[in-house]
Amino acid sequence: MSEPSVELLEGRSFDVLIVGAGANGSATAEALARAGYLVLLVDKSDFGSGTTSRSSRMLHCGFRSLEGAAGKSLWQHLTQLPDRLKLLKSAREQLAARADFASVMPARVRPVTIAIPLFRGSVGGWQIDMAAVLLSLLGTGGFPLDYRRLKAHELADLPFADWLRQRQDFTGAVTFCDYVFDWPERICVDQAMAAEQLGACVRNYTAVETMFQSSDGGWTVALRDEIDGTKATVAVRLVLNLAGPWIDKVTQTASSTAPQRIAASKGVQIAVALPERFQDHGLVAATDKGAFVCIPSQGLHLIGATNSKFTGDPSDAVATEDEIENLLARTNALLPGAGLGRADVRYAIAGVRPGSRGSPGRVIHDHAADGLPGLVSVTGGTVATSRQTAQSLRRLVARRFKASRPAKGERLDLLDPKRGAADAPRFAVEHARTIADVVFRRGGEAWTTHFDAQMLQATADALGRSNGWDPARTDQAIAAFRAELDKYYRRDLGSAPSEPSEISRSTACPS
Ligand SMILES: Cc1cc2nc3c(=O)[nH]c(=O)nc-3n(C[C@H](O)[C@H](O)[C@H](O)COP(=O)(O)OP(=O)(O)OC[C@H]3O[C@@H](n4cnc5c(N)ncnc54)[C@H](O)[C@@H]3O)c2cc1C
Repeated sequence: MSEPSVELLEGRSFDVLIVGAGANGSATAEALARAGYLVLLVDKSDFGSGTTSRSSRMLHCGFRSLEGAAGKSLWQHLTQLPDRLKLLKSAREQLAARADFASVMPARVRPVTIAIPLFRGSVGGWQIDMAAVLLSLLGTGGFPLDYRRLKAHELADLPFADWLRQRQDFTGAVTFCDYVFDWPERICVDQAMAAEQLGACVRNYTAVETMFQSSDGGWTVALRDEIDGTKATVAVRLVLNLAGPWIDKVTQTASSTAPQRIAASKGVQIAVALPERFQDHGLVAATDKGAFVCIPSQGLHLIGATNSKFTGDPSDAVATEDEIENLLARTNALLPGAGLGRADVRYAIAGVRPGSRGSPGRVIHDHAADGLPGLVSVTGGTVATSRQTAQSLRRLVARRFKASRPAKGERLDLLDPKRGAADAPRFAVEHARTIADVVFRRGGEAWTTHFDAQMLQATADALGRSNGWDPARTDQAIAAFRAELDKYYRRDLGSAPSEPSEISRSTACPS
């Protein structure tokens, strides 16, 4: 079953065009479709394949927001009150996002125990205790922090304790319950499919090429199918530019002189297999080379992320050997017991953070100020805050015009993704067009350790049957997938089946 041609959209009109089906675009498409708006959601690649698929997968509980306030005197807090209030606001937002995801999508997030080691001379435990009290006062929405402060001799149950550096400086640790997404790109597929069920028109591999202001104040937008090259032009009242780190590029399709809004930074992470006792446990620490985060994800641990200024096309961001070695060195400096080497790295990924220029947080930009009324973009929006961003944008749209149709009911049931090639017909329903679409974003098996050459062949055959490919076309798809794996994941699948992963999952710190 192949995808309907983009040409079928020629001449159609929509209330809102959403550019980009990452965490922010897909959540906003669902929210607006539910509110009765006629939505067109397009992504130049697959749903969730952009920065969202490169995140550290953390649904932070707010400690990070309060980090900036740690170690300061009461006087400093009072003199910097506006900044402190911003930190509190951000922490409250993160707590609300954590509770929202955990209650609305319990199958897509899971609790893990995060440890922050304490060393003599660094941030004191009492300061983190204060932050924990503050977070509890702000409200955890029924998903407690399970905060504990442990002395050095009480760490027997903490898997990272044996591996930590400077044992003599090690004064203890704090632990708390945080949530991880494990698989944020599947959330994007879920939300895009929910938007479609609610009446939105949803297309992957469809790029916005150019946008022209129409005489009625709306936009005429030229779209291109990135796989077969076909084109269409649509009319929309409002464009929401949610293209992550590509936001400036999208705005420039409307005006080459529009000011840049993105402050891009590149982040690289490596994935390693740690012993089973580390599953459901993560570690966060400050190092002299920046924040160190080690988070369980799909049977592996993601370690990172680097943080370097990025210019250029975010699609070209890849993990270099130097960056991989740097992360290994950083890990071994903090956790000498891990003794990690290059051969332990199962894959390495790079992403570009779509930070806001001149501001640390999320900013909604109304481009009317740039002479582009009816164009709105969002910078600095994370996966964690994406559902709140969607609600802010729904309110923004509602202030401008009414929905074409009545609002719909509550959230539809989440689709139940099945892993493996046997579910290929279902993948076709979910608009999967390449092998990577199936194994990374519909079934997710490529993120795990047991994905191997045999599974790749079976997936390619099933997708080929579903799309009517001949054997040569299937081989071509396999070669393209292997090249993508090599470039963007620094991973070689080899030709033999892999050993099944021995790491099993269990739930930590249930609330
Ligand atoms: C290393 C790293 C670690 C991170 N860790 C976390 C974390 O732990 N927790 C967290 O919440 N956030 C984290 N983030 C931030 C988070 O990943 C991003 O802020 C978030 O994914 C942005 O989502 P988005 O939907 O705005 O953008 P994206 O996911 O990038 O989606 C934008 C989409 O727009 C599409 N697009 C671009 N141009 C066009 C066009 N012309 N036409 C059509 N479509 C187009 C792209 O294909 C893409 O799919 C991290 C980011 C990085 C890089």
